[in-house]
Amino acid sequence: MTDAAHSSAPRPLSEIASFHAHVYYDAATRTEAERLRQWIGERFSVTLGRWHDAKVGPHDQSMYQVAFATEVFPALVPWLMLNHGRLSILVHPNTANPRRDHLADPVWIGAALAVHGEILPEEAEKEEALPPNTNPVLKP
Ligand code: ZN
Repeated sequence: MTDAAHSSAPRPLSEIASFHAHVYYDAATRTEAERLRQWIGERFSVTLGRWHDAKVGPHDQSMYQVAFATEVFPALVPWLMLNHGRLSILVHPNTANPRRDHLADPVWIGAALAVHGEILPEEAEKEEALPPNTNPVLKP
């Protein structure tokens, strides 16, 4: 264990203020994206962002954002793995480094797409979880 990478301390989980899942779709999969959005809203306490039918920010395809607290991750992310269908979903942490969050540290569910993270800053305020705007009625 002489490697320099092993001598520095690991990054603590406290770096992560919240998470985003970006659900990508196109004309052929928009109906699936609508159904998934409905299912998420029925099951999880999250903040569903608005539809972006055009490219926005670092995203290279139409998408909507699902913002959620760290406690929601263990239920929501495996559920998305099983239920994303043909949709690609980018799950990234929100730390103080948005560029690294999007480019180096995310997980992809489904096929990975291009993300133009180079336009994002390497230092920013951490995004705390927003108040949920869903009203789940079903257990995950
Ligand atoms: Zn995001």
